[in-house]
Amino acid sequence: MFNQKYFGGGLPTYRLRSVRHMTWLGESGRCLRRRRLIEIQRALDTETATSCLLHEMAHASTNDCHAAAWKAEMMRLKREGAPLSGDDATVEMDDWSGGHVSRRYFRMAVADMLITAPQIDAKQAIRFFIQNDGGAHSVAEFLRKFPWALRTFSACKREHRELVAQDRMGKATPEQQSEIARKFVMAREAKRRKSQKPAPSKEG
Ligand SMILES: [Zn+2]
Repeated sequence: MFNQKYFGGGLPTYRLRSVRHMTWLGESGRCLRRRRLIEIQRALDTETATSCLLHEMAHASTNDCHAAAWKAEMMRLKREGAPLSGDDATVEMDDWSGGHVSRRYFRMAVADMLITAPQIDAKQAIRFFIQNDGGAHSVAEFLRKFPWALRTFSACKREHRELVAQDRMGKATPEQQSEIARKFVMAREAKRRKSQKPAPSKEG
């Protein structure tokens, strides 16, 4: 019904699945465009779940990023009175730039980038990250705000090379590759956390 009401019935048919746990970041929903599947976390209240569904539908009608196209779609929904709430209700072209970026999220994003663009360098990765997720207005500002970014990028690159060397990426689809990369990063982090008892940084 949202498809009729807010998208002129233009979205392809998606399956909707309510899941208990989302992936690695405790996101509340996700839109798997290739599989025509939207997943929403089960524990959400109706208002949040509704907003989350619209958020994912906006991805379905644009792309996976939180960049200009998606933002424009969210702003249009808002204008048309769609029941958005929380962060989804306040999307603006120039927002999400003051937000905190957790190291973990950045690692995951970079791990994903390296799958499609293994040659990417730190600056390109940060620029791409800013386009998709924000964090700062420029690479320089990003580095000032998140001084760990370069180190984290190098670590990601090393990890990616190791994965490739182990030839675990060889015949995997991009989706599987990104799953492999994620597991690898998580395992690394768990190990690191264990080896240095007092957690060095709070991660959001
Ligand atoms: Zn999203």
